[in-house]
Amino acid sequence: MTTELDAFRQEVRQWLQANCPASMRRPIVTEEMVWGGSALTFQTDDQKVWFERMRERGWFAPSWPTEYGGGGLDAKRTRIVETEMHRLGCRQPQYNLGVWMLGPVLLEVGTHEQKLEHLVPMMRGERRWCQGFSEPNAGSDLASLKTSGRRVSDAQGDAYIVNGSKIWTSDGDKADWMYALVRTDAGAKKQNGISFVLIDMKSPGVTVKPIELISGKSSFCQVFFDDVRVPVRQLVGQEGEGWAVAKKLLQHERAAMSKFTEGGAPSHDALQTALGYLVDGNGQVRDGALRDRLAGVLMDAQAFALTHRRVSEMALARRDVSGPASIMKLVQTEQEVAKYELLEQAMGLRGLGWEGDAFSADELDVCRSWLRSKSYTIGGGTSEVQLNIVAKRVLGLPG
Ligand SMILES: Cc1cc2nc3c(=O)[nH]c(=O)nc-3n(C[C@H](O)[C@H](O)[C@H](O)COP(=O)(O)OP(=O)(O)OC[C@H]3O[C@@H](n4cnc5c(N)ncnc54)[C@H](O)[C@@H]3O)c2cc1C
Repeated sequence: MTTELDAFRQEVRQWLQANCPASMRRPIVTEEMVWGGSALTFQTDDQKVWFERMRERGWFAPSWPTEYGGGGLDAKRTRIVETEMHRLGCRQPQYNLGVWMLGPVLLEVGTHEQKLEHLVPMMRGERRWCQGFSEPNAGSDLASLKTSGRRVSDAQGDAYIVNGSKIWTSDGDKADWMYALVRTDAGAKKQNGISFVLIDMKSPGVTVKPIELISGKSSFCQVFFDDVRVPVRQLVGQEGEGWAVAKKLLQHERAAMSKFTEGGAPSHDALQTALGYLVDGNGQVRDGALRDRLAGVLMDAQAFALTHRRVSEMALARRDVSGPASIMKLVQTEQEVAKYELLEQAMGLRGLGWEGDAFSADELDVCRSWLRSKSYTIGGGTSEVQLNIVAKRVLGLPG
């Protein structure tokens, strides 16, 4: 078996070397991410080539069954593809919440028809997804959500009539479909009356309003539902049991977020860049305070990398990693903030440029990435909420 896996690793390595264009091995920046969807566009030929080659191999999702467009690989071979991509610094060919989060959930609890209807377009890179969980009065306390789904049976068939609104919907204005939580039983206890449904964003009654932030732009939207008809076949899992489905999905979201440094999300290596600023020609860091901070961040990064490896092995052995997923999300996002804080300190005023010719494009990108790093400690559940989950589920402390 080992020899077979070694041969597979060789083959993957050679294929990636031959097929991943050099520009697709540079660290990703937000503006260069290729988002799958009906509005798919490429800025460069290399992006297109890389996207198409990976799609043909089914390696948008190496472990998904081939009948749904995936690569059909077992866990060990999937890990080999992932580690070889990481080793070569290959970018993700397609970014899509559907692939990271909804897909694994559909594979677990979706019907065969739902898998065919939704996974196949994701694997062609033709359908972009957004997440409709948060509401104006339901963020950390998500189970207080009020968007309703009233079941009807009429001449058009069985459906839910959805009313209400979702907020902080990342890229809601660009998505083709939304996976959402709606309350289908107002009388049931909080978590029990919630269902997980898939909504076509082109449905009559859906209105998307982008939210402008102080920075002048944002990917956030508020989405309004006004008597939106969602066919019952778009219900994932059982009616009223959407909370359990959402918990599965959030695990995938947290796992995806904890893989930021593996090319899973935008991040140039803040720590490496900081080293470039801090270390002088003799390989030394003169400022004692900065040296201490650098040592701390480096040790944390190393400890995280080793823990990440251990948790990946646990996942590979199909052990429960729901607890570690919260720990990894918390630590990874907080560490990312710490790296950018250090980089900002090392760069001084050069790290605070917002616009204008006085700053290079890299410097402007550092400033935006630094600010953005803070948002990852909120999205997918805040750090405080992760701490609560870890306290309760991992450490077994009382609620
Ligand atoms: C970059 C980004 C992308 C996002 N994308 C999406 C998306 O696509 N779809 C979507 O549905 N949502 C999205 N969100 C929303 C996100 O899920 C919520 O912002 C998050 O769950 C927090 O909810 P809230 O903003 O209502 O804050 P609140 O829940 O009001 O929290 C406010 C503060 O109180 C603290 N707090 C709350 N409850 C507790 C508690 N029990 N114990 C201790 N502290 C507590 C929080 O940690 C926080 O500091 C995104 C957010 C960000 C930042």
